Amino acid sequence: SSFNDCKLTEIIKNNIALTKYDRPTPVQKYAIPFILAKRDLMACAQTGSGKTAAFLVPILNQIYEGGPLQNVPRSGGRSKQYPLALVLAPTRELATQIYDEARKFAYRSRVRPFVVYGGADVGSQMRDLGRGCHLLVATPGRLSDMIDRGKIGLDYCKYLILDEADRMLDMGFEPQIRRIVQDEKMPTTGVRQTLMFSATFPKEIQRLAQDFLENYIFLAV
Ligand code: AMP
Repeated sequence: SSFNDCKLTEIIKNNIALTKYDRPTPVQKYAIPFILAKRDLMACAQTGSGKTAAFLVPILNQIYEGGPLQNVPRSGGRSKQYPLALVLAPTRELATQIYDEARKFAYRSRVRPFVVYGGADVGSQMRDLGRGCHLLVATPGRLSDMIDRGKIGLDYCKYLILDEADRMLDMGFEPQIRRIVQDEKMPTTGVRQTLMFSATFPKEIQRLAQDFLENYIFLAV
């Protein structure tokens, strides 16, 4: 099997070729078709499985094909940004890795990835945010802060991904995650597409999946 078996738009295929990923890993092979079919997904997958590309490739593909960039309020300078896709990750390191990979798949497209995380200057992150942010990668605490400051609005967030959900809960992020996902501006389940990735599947993760996902596919690799 190859990435060419997936129904992906030309620019994404070109960017996959540039990353030199020849063949999809198992999680990519099974998850990508379901995500392209707009299903919610709970995937048990470890770091190193290729889970990052498993969600970035189909989500960026949908952003390109949906042509929704025009529908989002245009904002220049320091005004508010409305990401179309949000990836929540537990740590600065993981958020940065996801962002770096997103930049590869978004290369030569109008889609702009952006990353925010705690432990770094919030002022400079808010300034840089003004350059645009269609796919936002964020740690939960820093994102909550930026929502409170009125810098990020979730009104147009049609795609939500929780990466390493079990680690986020271990780190105590459940209240922030619930606030973000249940924000009154966030499109509800059924309107947005939601994907959860976790190495383990304990009770707490099952409960989150119950609350955040709708009619979801369960995948274990
Ligand atoms: P991840 O599990 O997403 O952290 O990915 C683990 C590593 O595998 C990363 O360094 C990726 O760049 C790499 N990778 C992901 N998908 C593929 C693929 N299909 N072929 C080769 N390498 C890949």
